[in-house]
Amino acid sequence: MMDESSPLAAAVRSQMPLATRIFDAIRERTADHVGITRPAWSSQDLAAAEIIAEAARELGLIVEWDLAGNLLCSLSGTDSDQPRILTGSHLDSVPTGGHYDGLAGVVAGISVLAAFRQMDLQPACDITTIGLRGEESVWYGIAYIGSRLAVGTLPLEQLDKLRRGDTGRSLAEHMSDVGVDVDELRRAKGATINSNNTRAFFELHIEQGPVLVGEGVSVGIPTTIRGNVRFPYAHCLGVYGHSGALPRAYRNDAALAAVELVHKLDSFWIEQEAMGVPDTVFTVGKLFTDPTYHAMTKVPGRCDFTLNFGGTTKTFLDACRERTVIMAGDIAQKRRVEFELGECVGSDPTPLDNQLRGVLADKAESAGIQIREFATVGHDASIFARAGIPSAMVLVRNDKGSHNPDEAMEMSDFADGSVVLAEGIVSLLGYDST
Ligand SMILES: [Zn+2]
Repeated sequence: MMDESSPLAAAVRSQMPLATRIFDAIRERTADHVGITRPAWSSQDLAAAEIIAEAARELGLIVEWDLAGNLLCSLSGTDSDQPRILTGSHLDSVPTGGHYDGLAGVVAGISVLAAFRQMDLQPACDITTIGLRGEESVWYGIAYIGSRLAVGTLPLEQLDKLRRGDTGRSLAEHMSDVGVDVDELRRAKGATINSNNTRAFFELHIEQGPVLVGEGVSVGIPTTIRGNVRFPYAHCLGVYGHSGALPRAYRNDAALAAVELVHKLDSFWIEQEAMGVPDTVFTVGKLFTDPTYHAMTKVPGRCDFTLNFGGTTKTFLDACRERTVIMAGDIAQKRRVEFELGECVGSDPTPLDNQLRGVLADKAESAGIQIREFATVGHDASIFARAGIPSAMVLVRNDKGSHNPDEAMEMSDFADGSVVLAEGIVSLLGYDST
């Protein structure tokens, strides 16, 4: 059921031609041989930012850049000293990625501000759409660089330490290339966005999984951003040997030991699900023997692998870490091999703000837009939430997954998500849009 009654919903829906023009212009400027590529702090994510900035200026919004090169487009409030409401997402993408990952949230923010302008809405506080840089971890090995610089949680020595794998050049050098004053960024230190000057952050993002498509629903309201426990550099050491000459009792097979560990962890995951632990994931993204030494006729002497657990409770994530260590010890003894699990990294689950989630869910219901609530993957919203800024998200149905060129968001679903976002912001301002 579409909401016919709210002037705000109608105003947001009437901005879809503008949103389409912005999406098309950015696609044209950042197309790759397949999909689009917008590396962080490159001419491509800068081109995307400039197209957004131009659209914002035409709408009469105030356009600014923070010291890290994040783009801020604001509708001024009657009292700009009041903490602002922030919305937006990231401008960068993975290589040959999909067009809507990140960008949808920035374009939604601009569409919502355009609707507010059309309605001549005078908010009490500034409402700002942010286009963040460096959310994807592809180029510098860590994620959320733009948002972490904005809230002051990225140590500034990382500007020189982080280097792009493909160019070998530092983050600072790449930032300078696209006009960021890195010396000024170093001098300023500290956060530009904090819980004193920002009362809420809303991030609209395409769903990167299949839930909304499967459920036939256009909008999701995430409950929590999953935390994770990861072993990125694990390996098992055995002894290479002749595949035909070694009876079982004489083998030290690294591959079978690694596979047994993976299989046991999969069974553990199934058990946890059966016990009712919600929203868990487990992925073995890499599992390989060394092509320099391996052969069909050799017992493998080494097997490398990664383990990646995700969940919404610390209890589950702690159990994953502990069980991995215990199981690896048992298998090592039984199979006469050695596991070197390497560094264990990860992040805690980040619950999204209950009150803001409730506002979004209520507003979706009164706008006649069905929603589903479930946990989601890491997004910039987790950085703002951890910095103490109440944060919530709106997910938009998207077919064919994400981080690939086939992302297929429908503009009618994007409009639904943008209506929920706009109604949520207006509700927070204390207006009744109906
Ligand atoms: Zn994203």
